Amino acid sequence: MNSYNIKTTRLLREVMQNYFLNFRRAPKVAWCTSVGPAELLRSFGFEIYFPENHGALLGTTRHAVDYIPAAVKSGYSGHICSYTTSDIGAWLSNETPLKSHYGLEKIPKPDLIVYNTNQCREVEDWFTFFARQFNCPIAGINPPRYLDHVGKAEVELVIKQFKKIIPACELASGNKFDIDKFREALKLSREATILWQEVLQTAKNSPSPITFFDGTIHMGPIVVLRGTQIAVDYYKTLLEELENHVRNQIGCLKEEDCRLFWDGMPIWGRLRMLSDLFLQNNTAVVASTYCNSWIFDDFDETNPFESTALAYTKIFINRSEKAKMEFFKNWFPEYGIDGVIFHDSKTCFNNSNAKFGLPQRLTEETGLPTLVIEGDLCDTRFFSDGQSITKIETFLEQIEGQKAYL
Ligand code: SF4
Repeated sequence: MNSYNIKTTRLLREVMQNYFLNFRRAPKVAWCTSVGPAELLRSFGFEIYFPENHGALLGTTRHAVDYIPAAVKSGYSGHICSYTTSDIGAWLSNETPLKSHYGLEKIPKPDLIVYNTNQCREVEDWFTFFARQFNCPIAGINPPRYLDHVGKAEVELVIKQFKKIIPACELASGNKFDIDKFREALKLSREATILWQEVLQTAKNSPSPITFFDGTIHMGPIVVLRGTQIAVDYYKTLLEELENHVRNQIGCLKEEDCRLFWDGMPIWGRLRMLSDLFLQNNTAVVASTYCNSWIFDDFDETNPFESTALAYTKIFINRSEKAKMEFFKNWFPEYGIDGVIFHDSKTCFNNSNAKFGLPQRLTEETGLPTLVIEGDLCDTRFFSDGQSITKIETFLEQIEGQKAYL
């Protein structure tokens, strides 16, 4: 049995619980997409709630499938984003795992709902459902998508969209926009995101002190608390522990036979099973597009609008295949990658990169073997344990076989 553990996980539970319980006394609440303009919202004094985080909790607790039918019954297809359908279904069923998990009776009522379609257009439909339910104002940012390069024209367009939501923020919060508060939130966000990047980069070491599966758990604060000192302090503690492990050559495995990259959404309901499967096969999944999505190293408080517009438009999911190929080709040598797993998520077309032959082209360009596994972020009915285990074990044998000939 693998006895490795990251002690900071205990602190994570406390941090997340405090974050949720804080909503009980929050004067004003804004809802925001996970890569939405959190720093701008924080500058108005909103506590920020992230429905995608709720979707992930519905996935990890495996309750999503209980609630999706309620959303389907009210007209949402079972083949669209299962964060959306499970979250809407849970609301229609008057249920939330926040109750048993963190002691919060219900999801926080919004005073303002804000989305950014830099990740997908689905968030607009999803959030609009709740705007209607709560009779709440809603504002959105719609940046240009699928870009090879994010240039001045695109950034200027997004800056205008950022500025356009300010009156809605002022009205809902009762506070005037204060550029210094925006700068302060951005400074804290930048600090946290750089620490998060350093946390992920400890996985460049072998044995790696953190896997993709650990990352999906420890990313909680960078999603929901960026722009706060709490997130900065959390990642300082986590980084210190991981660096200590690296210094002492303690990793998730004693020795790694294989190091993999994960592309696409986590399969939230099977995190534990998959994590154990890879470790049992002496394989460390050391990096991912997903965890890297919350690194915004372009944030710059001296240039707040331009730098946030750039950082939130540049993200991997919002880019062309050409740009994504460059991301991949930079990451693989840095992390010593032996192979790539593509999660082809049934209900998230936007964060699945295996549907148009990219894995094959990537293999041609890099020589690295790739494997596509079918599944879903929350709807476990689209994932087969047996088939996936067989595919993964065969893939690992193939990589081992190739290494033996090197
Ligand atoms: S990126 Fe995918 S999982 Fe995330 S909200 Fe959009 S459709 Fe859903």
